[in-house]
Amino acid sequence: MVKPSRKGSSAEIKRALESGRLFVADHDGYRRFIYSRCPNDGNDAPVYRQDRSGQAYTRLVFRCPICGTEFESPVKSMFLR
Ligand SMILES: [Zn+2]
Repeated sequence: MVKPSRKGSSAEIKRALESGRLFVADHDGYRRFIYSRCPNDGNDAPVYRQDRSGQAYTRLVFRCPICGTEFESPVKSMFLR
């Protein structure tokens, strides 16, 4: 099944992080995980490290699978995949 595009997900991502999740589940239970784009080469980078305060995630570090760059990202630059 084709999943819809990546836009309009900032609010969902924010809610997920506040409740200690690194994914958003759709109605079918399909989990779409949080990614951000590598600042060097634009590849999709998954979460590599995270800090929490209580259950909420306060800081995410992404790591590019291609060039190995570790970077932080504002929520508005994150997307679900
Ligand atoms: Zn990269």
